[in-house]
Order: sequence, then C-alpha cells, then structure tokens
Amino acid sequence: MLKNILFFIFVSSNFIGAAQHPYKQIVKLMGSRFEFTVVAENAIAGDKHIAMAVAEISRIEKLISSWDSNSETSEINAAAGEKPVKVSQELYDLINRCLKISTLTDGAFDISYASMDRIWKFDSSMKKMPSEKAIQESVSNVGFQNIILNNTDTSVFLKRSGMKIGFGAVGKGYAADRAKALLLEQGVSSGIINASGDMNAWGKQPDGSEWKVALTNPMDKNKGFGLLPVVNKAVVTSGNYEKYVVFSGKRYSHIIDPRTGYPSTGILSVTVFAPKAELADALATSVFVMGKDIGLDRINQLPNVECILIDEEGTVFKSKNIKINTL
Ligand code: ADP
Ligand code: MG
Repeated sequence: MLKNILFFIFVSSNFIGAAQHPYKQIVKLMGSRFEFTVVAENAIAGDKHIAMAVAEISRIEKLISSWDSNSETSEINAAAGEKPVKVSQELYDLINRCLKISTLTDGAFDISYASMDRIWKFDSSMKKMPSEKAIQESVSNVGFQNIILNNTDTSVFLKRSGMKIGFGAVGKGYAADRAKALLLEQGVSSGIINASGDMNAWGKQPDGSEWKVALTNPMDKNKGFGLLPVVNKAVVTSGNYEKYVVFSGKRYSHIIDPRTGYPSTGILSVTVFAPKAELADALATSVFVMGKDIGLDRINQLPNVECILIDEEGTVFKSKNIKINTL
C-alpha cells in the first residue's frame, strides 16, 4: 500500500513537470535599468520569455518616447496648436488614463508638464535658476484641460502651440505592466520586473515564498524598512535624491508642480503600492507635488493603494492601511 502511494507521488510529481527556477537578466531600456526575473523550467525558456518582455518594452518606448521624432507622441507634440493627430488605440487609452489621474490629483499630475522641460534641466547643464519670466511663460503652455481627445477617431489635439506631452512619470510603470501581462499570457506564472525602482510582481517564488522588495530610507541607508512582501501588485518609488539641482542651498527636484512651474520641495521620497505599476508610478509623482497632507489624504481615499513617504527632515509618514511595523 505504502509503495503504491509513493509510486503515485513519484508519478504525479513527474507529471507536473520539471522543477521551476528563477532566471534573471538586467537590460537597459527607456534610459533606465530594467531587471527581469521570471520563473521557468530551464534557462532556454527563461531567456526566451525575457527576450519577449524586452521586445515589448522597446515597442512601447517607440510609441511613447518624446525624444524619438518618429513616435506617435512626437507627432502629437509637433502638431500642437495646429491640428489633431490620429493615434493608436493604445496611446489614446494611455493618455485618457493620464487625464483621469490629472483630475484625481487636481492637476498635480499632468503629462503636459513637458513644455517645462525646456527650462528645467536636471542633467547638470542648468547653471542658474531660470528667471521668473521664463517660468511663467513655460507654465502658460501647461494644462491637461487643453489636451483634447476625440474617441470617434482616436485623435489627440494639444490646443496651444508650444504645448508638449511626455510620459516620464508613467512610462516605466506602463511598460512594466505590459511586460507582465505579456509574460502571463505566455504562461509565466511567476516573476518580478524592477524598472529602476518600479517593481511589478506576480505569483510566488519557486520555494513558495512571496517576492519581497527592500525599501531603503534615503536619509539613512542602514535604517531601512526591511523586506516587504509584494503579492500580485506593484511598488513604485519616486525620489528626489537622484535627479535634482541645488540653488542657494535649496534642493529642486525633477518633479515639477505643473500649476506653478516650480519643482516640488519638501519630500525626499514617495513609495506607492497599487495593483498596477502605471497607477503607482503616476501617484508617486503626484504625491510629490501634492505634498504630505493632501497627498496622503488622496491616497487614503483610493482602494488598494498605499503610500510611505519621507519628508526633508527624514520623518516617515504612512497611509492609513499600511501594514509595516519595521520602521
Ligand atoms: P523617477 O522614477 O525617475 O523618479 P518619476 O516617476 O517620479 O520618475 O517621474 C518623474 C518624471 O516625470 C520627471 O523626470 C518628468 O519627466 C516627469 N514629470 C515631472 N513633473 C511631472 C508632473 N507634475 N506630472 C507628470 N509628469 C511629471
Ligand atoms: Mg512616477
């Protein structure tokens, strides 16, 4: 009898298939470091899946890049103030979702922030504070209300000439979501995509444990949040400790308040947990602009969305349902 049971266990485990292992690759995409981990039965399968995810992200990059003059996004920007541009359903839908986040955040999040890219540069080429006049002028071309969508022909029109849209705040999150969806379709039941701090995880590790992310405190690398489990969700961190400029001792971050034209101040880092990386990415940027009080208040009203932020004094604040006690 015992022999029979053992035989059955042996047969069924063989039937289930070979053991699964995590396979990892780091690839530079969208000007960022993407780290892919997929669970597969061998290296050939793992590599094949990662190659598909890389191809998908390259495709998205071509669609949303405002650097590539052939992208649909550049076509929209080039026709600003002149005419609507018909775009793919995919880009149209992405812009539509971005406009919803603008409404939700009272314009703190705004893909038309991009015309301000012309005056604020965070690559060390900016030597002095832009003038008040230049800031005023650039902000006059910002305003999500002037992005006109027409769903009968999926066209996008930027009403004012000089207007520009850019996906710097959601692109990596969207790409990570699409790559995850594609891998799931391919039967990859577990994996984690880390797009320079934008994490998207699904399934469990082969040993049955949950995927975990390490969040560090930018004020004190030794005083981190420990390892946090990410179960079928995204975790995105926006920080001002990498891209910023300092004028007269004041730090200006690369996240700009589209309503004033000035970079946001007061917050060092924002981490958002959400079901999708795109939403988490957009909200992390938004909380920076909205500030601690309004930012946390908005997050507290959204289902399945949580946030941890650190202000310039190094104080940590959490949204109301966050279950982290390791601070
Ligand atoms: P990172 O992951 O690089 O920290 P974020 O997701 O926080 O980036 O997005 C910051 C980028 O978003 C900026 O570099 C800029 O391209 C764009 N951006 C800046 N301010 C805004 C804003 N208020 N709304 C939408 N996009 C913005
Ligand atoms: Mg973001």
